Amino acid sequence: MLKRPGSILYGDIMLREIIEGFGDEVVRVSTPVRKELEITRYLLRYRDRPVLFEDVDGWQVAGNIWSTRERIARYLGVGKEDILHILADGMENPQPYRAVKDAPFLKNSTEDFSLLELPVPRYFPEDGGRYFTSAIIAAKDDDGFVNLSFHRMMVVDERRAAIRLVPRHLYSMWRDRMERGEELDIRVMVGNPVHILLAGATSVAYGVSELEIASSLSRKAFGKPLEVVEVGGIPVPVETEFVFEAKILPELTDEGPFVDITGTYDYVRKQPVVVFERMYHADNPVFHALLPGGYEHYMLMGLPKEPQIYAAVKRVVPKVHGVRLTEGGAMWLHAVVSITKQHEGDGKNAILAAFAGHPSLKHVTVVDEDIDIYDDRDVEWAVATRFQADRDLVLIPNARGSSLDPSSEKSLTAKWGIDATKPLGRREEFERAKL
Ligand code: MN
Repeated sequence: MLKRPGSILYGDIMLREIIEGFGDEVVRVSTPVRKELEITRYLLRYRDRPVLFEDVDGWQVAGNIWSTRERIARYLGVGKEDILHILADGMENPQPYRAVKDAPFLKNSTEDFSLLELPVPRYFPEDGGRYFTSAIIAAKDDDGFVNLSFHRMMVVDERRAAIRLVPRHLYSMWRDRMERGEELDIRVMVGNPVHILLAGATSVAYGVSELEIASSLSRKAFGKPLEVVEVGGIPVPVETEFVFEAKILPELTDEGPFVDITGTYDYVRKQPVVVFERMYHADNPVFHALLPGGYEHYMLMGLPKEPQIYAAVKRVVPKVHGVRLTEGGAMWLHAVVSITKQHEGDGKNAILAAFAGHPSLKHVTVVDEDIDIYDDRDVEWAVATRFQADRDLVLIPNARGSSLDPSSEKSLTAKWGIDATKPLGRREEFERAKL
């Protein structure tokens, strides 16, 4: 456990103390706030500041907690350019976690609760219902492997929700059970610190443990493994604020519409039903309201993709300086990559590799290492002064891209890459004057 700026001891405290550790950045709302649309108004008004709602039907709710790269880096005790490196190491070298016997959320346990009385927000007017957006689901397969993944869930009634299962790991675990007519036992976790959220947001191969990725991040950030406690045979991180025992049934119901990362509405689909059976929560728990299409959503979806782009570019260009998915591209569709160019053509190879590293990527700009990739104006300056469209543009029509881009046609999209690196033989002509 390390001491962080502001004298806050991270890695061993609950969400309320973490948020308080961010000091003056935090917007505190002490007046009662409605869970229908009103939470959204605050989260949109203070897009890059944590907002702590003291009274949403008597519950504490927080949003925009992890809405900037700087705040995440500060919590993890690394530079913002190093987040991708500690994530890459976690994905490549997951570390064991430690089983313990107790957790703050075990203090309060009940079968007498209603989802309708919990502070689950409705975010936008056309949403199909109130939505869990920050929930991580833990499930165990027949071989004992435990998977973690993010899934939005639309509240249907007092005890049931519709869960969006994209065809990845939890989907295949559920389908295996469904084909035998069985339910899938799950644990729903709400209110997690960012190392657990980032681990849950990675897209590693089946069999790679997201809990062990979280443990790798915890060891790097706090010098100790992730601690978990078994809840009915499934391990759950002790730092989680709310935990639900639940089951995914072998039956479907309508899910949606709901706003996705691009800020546009996703359509209604038939998705599995979840039944919630028992609720656990810490004393004075904080419910995490993750604004769909907000900066926090961008960070959690985008940051785990940056190491993939970095690794792909690194295979073709020896010196990769940095990778950033930009907020303007919803941290999903647009990237900036900086390289130390050694050969003519490195910029174009970096473009092709970036698309291979993150197949949903649509536009990528490659710059030299003297450009600050975290400064959109500096990147635009590089495009303005170092790029000629007739020879530095790579255009790929009819590629497979993101289904989340409303301008794509059934995920078919045109991609472009801008090589805004300086020509090697004339580098000094492109230098910015310095004092
Ligand atoms: Mn997985």
